[in-house]
Amino acid sequence: MQNHITPNFVFSPMIPDHGKGSRVWDREGREYIDLAGGIAVNALGHCHPALIEALTEQAGKLWHVSNIYTTEPAQTLAAKLTEHTFADKVFFCNSGAEANEAALKLARKYARDHFGEEKNEIIACVNAFHGRTLFTVSVGGQAKYSRDFAPLPPAITHVPFNDAEALAAAISEKTCAVIIEPIQGESGVLPADSAFLEAARRLCDQHQTLLIFDEVQTGMGRTAKLFAHEHYGVTPDIMTSAKALGGGFPIGAMLTTDKIASSLGPGTHGTTFGGNPLACAVANRAFDIINSPETLQHAEQQGRKLQAALTALGEETGVFQEVRGMGLLIGCVLAEPYRDRAGELIQTALNHGLMILVAGSNVIRFAPSLLIDDEDLEEGMKRLREALLSWRTQA
Ligand SMILES: *Cc1c(COP(=O)(O)O)cnc(C)c1O
Repeated sequence: MQNHITPNFVFSPMIPDHGKGSRVWDREGREYIDLAGGIAVNALGHCHPALIEALTEQAGKLWHVSNIYTTEPAQTLAAKLTEHTFADKVFFCNSGAEANEAALKLARKYARDHFGEEKNEIIACVNAFHGRTLFTVSVGGQAKYSRDFAPLPPAITHVPFNDAEALAAAISEKTCAVIIEPIQGESGVLPADSAFLEAARRLCDQHQTLLIFDEVQTGMGRTAKLFAHEHYGVTPDIMTSAKALGGGFPIGAMLTTDKIASSLGPGTHGTTFGGNPLACAVANRAFDIINSPETLQHAEQQGRKLQAALTALGEETGVFQEVRGMGLLIGCVLAEPYRDRAGELIQTALNHGLMILVAGSNVIRFAPSLLIDDEDLEEGMKRLREALLSWRTQA
């Protein structure tokens, strides 16, 4: 197949053709176990019958009317999201970056409305990932993703993740927002310490600063709770969701309280496609399945099995020095002799019929379907073991 896509995406010769549950088949008919989940998106696996039904039902009814009008699927989904979170209002969009863009714009405007234009500084974490628009990539904490697009938006500073003292030193009455991923996903599946999130909450309250949790990757059952911050008992002022929200259909959301949402008066922000009926119809069905005790308990149980299997494989092969994460978001840190070779390892895994992810150059990441069964999990671990053993001898 000839490649007509811009080269920011590396062309993979394995071309997926169709999927079912936790299995994917390529154009040659080769079968793969999918423990990548489309980067933590396919929370219910591939082609879940209930999602197909929701999508096709809505496809015969109404696709798009723009936000000049509201629709029943959008209102129903917003009602579900607010009923099960701290939030009162939802802004729908199409991606994680757009959700964070909305959150950051809202934080700037809220601060300006209530405290004046001097209160505009944003604090984020080193190695954070918040998306690829110019604002979100600048707020993200990896200069390699943003510096080539300078000049960047100003008034953004970064503190080391999990460093409450650095946050206390950086925050001031000029800070309008602190944005944190409860688990840093892209940069290595690194969970926040409770003490850090608690300090962030306290410092934000002291300085009348909004606390934003980016739950684009950690939300929607990924950590075996609806949202990861529930594990910590720390509540943000604004939260973003995307990835698994649509179970594979593109949709993002920014959630906040009535008081903060009131800074988004008519016309202050917008989107053409955001909250369209197709995306919301699928997300509604995905929400009901994900937010059930059965699914969340299953994710917890399968997460424990996966962590245990990966820990055992690490001990057997010596390739991993640490296995970490929560629920079904798990990272394996490569041991010293294999440092920064995660990219090679996932290629070897693919050759063994297994789809997994990197998270930075030194961590391999697992984000399988929340519904993955024992058989697929065990087959995935069998293939990973073979991949690790063959890679280790080449390495
Ligand atoms: C993936 C991700 C984003 C960006 O989402 P897109 O849909 O790619 O724009 C933002 N924040 C976090 C934590 C993510 O994992």
